[in-house]
Amino acid sequence: TRMEKIYLDELIKQFLPIVENEALLYGIEVKTESFANLPPVLGDKELLKQVFLNICKNAIEAMGNKGQLSLSSQLLREEQMIRIDIMDTGPGIPPYVIDKIFEPFFTTKEEGTGLGLSICQRIIHDMGGKIRVSSKGYGTTFHVCIPYLDA
Ligand code: ADP
Ligand code: MG
Repeated sequence: TRMEKIYLDELIKQFLPIVENEALLYGIEVKTESFANLPPVLGDKELLKQVFLNICKNAIEAMGNKGQLSLSSQLLREEQMIRIDIMDTGPGIPPYVIDKIFEPFFTTKEEGTGLGLSICQRIIHDMGGKIRVSSKGYGTTFHVCIPYLDA
C-alpha cells in the first residue's frame, strides 16, 4: 500500500460531505470537532477515508431515522497516537455481539456483507494502529488510534 503523510483535517474535509449528505437523508445530526493542528499520520489516504466512511455508515445505519453522530480527536502524547472517536446515539451493541463485529462476514443486517469492520481493522493495523469499540446499552463509540509522525 501507498504510504503518505496524511493530515486528518484535510482528510475529514474530503469525506465529511459524503457522511453529512447520508445523515441528512435520515435526519441525523453530524457534529465535528476541529481536527486542525494535529501531527500527520502515515498511510494510504484513500484507505483511511474508507475506514472513517465505513464506521460512519454503520453508525447511521444503526441510528435509523434520528440521532447524532459526533467526531472528535485526542492527541495521546505518551502513546504517540492520535485517537479519533466516532460516537453515535444508536441502540448500542449487545455484549454477545460486540466480540464478533470485527470478524469477516459477521453481520446482523439482512443485506450486510459483514466485511466493513474487518477491512477497517486491517487497514488500521497496517498503519500500526488499533480500533476499539465501546458500547454500554445505549450508543456506540469507535476509537481509532493511529501513530503520528513527529513534526
Ligand atoms: P455490515 O455493516 O455489513 O453488517 P460491518 O463489518 O460493517 O458489516 O459491521 C458488523 C456488525 O457490527 C454490524 O452488522 C452491526 O451488527 C455491528 N455494528 C457496527 N457498527 C455499529 C454501530 N455503530 N451500532 C450498532 N451496531 C454496529
Ligand atoms: Mg458496515
